[in-house]
Amino acid sequence: MFTKNAAPGIHRLEHAATNLYVVEDGGSLMLVDAGFPSSERLLARAVRTLGRGPEDIRALVLTHGHFDHIGSATRLRARLGIPVYAHSADHYIAAHPYRYRHERSALLYPVRYPKSLAALGRMAAAGAFAVPGIREVRPLDQDALRSLPGAPTLLPVPGHTAGSVALWFPERGAVITGDALVTLDPYTGGRGPQIVAQAATADSGAALASLDALASTEASILLPGHGEPWTQGAGAAVARALEVSRH
Ligand SMILES: [Zn+2]
Ligand SMILES: [Zn+2]
Repeated sequence: MFTKNAAPGIHRLEHAATNLYVVEDGGSLMLVDAGFPSSERLLARAVRTLGRGPEDIRALVLTHGHFDHIGSATRLRARLGIPVYAHSADHYIAAHPYRYRHERSALLYPVRYPKSLAALGRMAAAGAFAVPGIREVRPLDQDALRSLPGAPTLLPVPGHTAGSVALWFPERGAVITGDALVTLDPYTGGRGPQIVAQAATADSGAALASLDALASTEASILLPGHGEPWTQGAGAAVARALEVSRH
C-alpha cells in the first residue's frame, strides 16, 4: 500500500508489514529503507504515481542493517547506481543479514504470540529469508545527509541495533524512526508505540534510553519502520512506549 504525504513530502510504501519511505525534495527523491527483495517492483510503481521515475532516486539511506530493511538495497544500488548509506556500526549486519544480536530467540514468538503470524508470514512471502547482504555501504553521518534530498538531521538511536538511526525533518514536523520506535511489532503483533521485542533487539535498555532523542524533537508525526504513522506527537508516543515496556 502506498500513502502519499504520510508527512509533508514524505510518502510511505507499506510492504509485508514493513515500511519504506520516499522523501521528495523538488525533483529529487531519497529512499529510506529498502524492504524486501520483492519490494523493488512496488517501489518503482509507487514512484511513478508521484510523477517521477526510479532514476529520480538519488540515494538510499538505511535506518539500520536488519534484513527487513535492506532487502532491495543490492539491486537498487546496481540498477540505479545510487549510493547506499548506513551508520558504520551496522555495516557488518548489512553485509551478513542473518547474523544480528538479539536478546531472545525468535523461534518461540509465533507460539507465544499467535497474532504475529500474519505479519511474519507476509514477511517470509516477500523474501525475508533470502535477502542478499550488501557490502558497498557508505558511512552515514550528518555531513552525508546534508547533501541528500530532504537534508534531515541525524539522530543516533542505538539499542535496536548498535547503528540504528532516526531521521528528523524539522520543517516537515516529522521523524522517520526506523525500528527505534514502531507502532506494530512484527514479533508479537502488538500495536501502538513501542520498542521491538527482544527477539530482534540487541539491547532493550539502550533502546529505551534512545527514546529521549525522539521525544526531544517534539515532532508531530513519527514514521516507524513497522506499523501506521503516529500523528499525536513524539512526546506522547515515547510516553506510551515507556509505559508498554513496564508491563
Ligand atoms: Zn530491525
Ligand atoms: Zn524491522
